[in-house]
Amino acid sequence: MAKKTFPCGHKGLGQYCHKCQQSSIEHNNQEAIRHEKQIWEQQFKTDAIDLRKLPHKNLVIKARAILVAIKEGQAYQVFNGKRMNYDRHIVSVPIDNDYRILFKDDKDGLVPVVVLSHEEYNTKKPGASKI
Ligand SMILES: [Zn+2]
Repeated sequence: MAKKTFPCGHKGLGQYCHKCQQSSIEHNNQEAIRHEKQIWEQQFKTDAIDLRKLPHKNLVIKARAILVAIKEGQAYQVFNGKRMNYDRHIVSVPIDNDYRILFKDDKDGLVPVVVLSHEEYNTKKPGASKI
């Protein structure tokens, strides 16, 4: 079978240009990835607190699950959350070993305040003795 020239100018075999077909697939994939990133970025705006500092997607997802569950009235103890000794109105809920969410115990329930890394948690903790 002889190679033919497609309308796009590429030469090849078959009914359509495989080069253009391939680059169109790659283009669509890039679009899809970009679109997914945009949606991902948008979701941060609807979070009760800024979760952007979390380094992994699955940490963000886990943090959101904790935020939603606690908002719905789930007990923080379920997530190994603890009241702080220095302030019984602050509840710390671990996301993993390195990150935790601080909640303030309000009359309406637990209100998320901030995400802290392990280091920040150890240094910002007011009244806590440094190691
Ligand atoms: Zn082509």
